[in-house]
Amino acid sequence: MAVSLSFPQHVSELAARTATFIREVVLPTDDEHRGDIDAAGNDVLRMQLQDAAKSAGVFAPHAPCEYGGLGLGMVDRAPVFEEAGYSLFGPLSLNIAAPDEGNLHLLVHAASAEQKVKYLQPLAAGDSRSAFAMTEPSPGAGSDPSMLRTHATYKAGRWLISGRKWFITGADGAHFFIVMARTSGQPGDRGGATMFLVDGDTAGLKVGRHIATMDKSMLGGHCEIIFDEVSVGDDAVLGEVDAGFRHAQIRLGPARMTHVMRWLGSARRAHDTALSHVATRGGFGGRLGDLGMIQKMVADNEIDLAAARALLVQACWHLDRGETAATPTSIAKTFAAEAIDRVVDRSVQMCGGLGVSDDYPVARIAREVRPFRIYDGPSEVHRWAIAKRAIRAAARPAEDAK
Ligand SMILES: Cc1cc2nc3c(=O)[nH]c(=O)nc-3n(C[C@H](O)[C@H](O)[C@H](O)COP(=O)(O)OP(=O)(O)OC[C@H]3O[C@@H](n4cnc5c(N)ncnc54)[C@H](O)[C@@H]3O)c2cc1C
Repeated sequence: MAVSLSFPQHVSELAARTATFIREVVLPTDDEHRGDIDAAGNDVLRMQLQDAAKSAGVFAPHAPCEYGGLGLGMVDRAPVFEEAGYSLFGPLSLNIAAPDEGNLHLLVHAASAEQKVKYLQPLAAGDSRSAFAMTEPSPGAGSDPSMLRTHATYKAGRWLISGRKWFITGADGAHFFIVMARTSGQPGDRGGATMFLVDGDTAGLKVGRHIATMDKSMLGGHCEIIFDEVSVGDDAVLGEVDAGFRHAQIRLGPARMTHVMRWLGSARRAHDTALSHVATRGGFGGRLGDLGMIQKMVADNEIDLAAARALLVQACWHLDRGETAATPTSIAKTFAAEAIDRVVDRSVQMCGGLGVSDDYPVARIAREVRPFRIYDGPSEVHRWAIAKRAIRAAARPAEDAK
């Protein structure tokens, strides 16, 4: 298996331009408001930063060129998204923040021509925002999507969607939702789900409370949503009826990898901050950076960052070949989410008191990266899936021999 370890020149140049844009335009606002998007101005800030990104030629690197984007594949996104992630507001500025970036990817691959005009075009241009509504309160879908209870019933040529969702990122102010609803079978069945495109102002759709979570940088909150007989036509079906779980695979792998890319940038900022602290802070007759235990933390950070990047690029290489890449993306996601958390936690430690203060960015980065070990599949679910596939493969020769 050949994996290229170099990026084309135009990608390296775009990554460098993105790095400059983030440091000069985005980081000052991030630092002023300590990564809190509500304090910084929500959609008003988004539009200002996106206008600036358009002027700098770094906007929408992931979107197809026909939709005004820069058309990067998955491998080529890695260095650019990492540079964007150096600021907590960077992804929003480039229009590559979750969930819009993953939703755009899904629309490119699953939407009809009409749906692309109505939903994909404005999303790619930054003229609209979106949300992906899957998770439900107990006993509904969570780690186990088959527990899906939100249902859509077909009556007189219309779909009526009813149910409750929660932890839906970006819901407040979203122009449209991609909603996973059960169209056949029972909770616990592995099939029978359909994805619907639902406009945010459709009667019966209510965005409820913002669930207060430890992270503060994501626009539109993590909200509860109530669907009370929300009526949509056949043109709202994204892909095919009853094929929702299959279509969700189009989004899942790439969305996990782009989260890794962005959070790698944030982890690198935490590590850079710690490096500069230990390289200059004196103590015990020298610098903190001269102490063996500090050097171990520095080295472990470098190892975790490099290893996460390598697994990421390998998984993206499979995705670029059109493979589902379930195992490589699970491996990269699990390792990277935990490695990023370790890097940031060590960075906090190396910065001492400043590490838990607002004077340095590391405390807020720690608060932002922790949930990544839970969303896009908790680490335990990925380990369970990786192990199941490995054991199944090991059992196959024995079964074939029977
Ligand atoms: C900040 C944030 C943003 C989110 N944004 C969205 C969004 O935009 N849209 C959306 O639909 N959802 C979103 N979610 C929800 C997220 O996808 C779920 O939290 C996740 O799938 C886990 O589901 P759950 O919370 O119901 O946990 P549960 O299903 O209750 O699981 C709890 C824990 O049990 C353990 N566990 C579960 N299964 C297994 C297993 N097979 N083996 C071993 N241990 C296991 C894991 O440790 C897991 O963390 C978001 C969540 C957060 C925290």
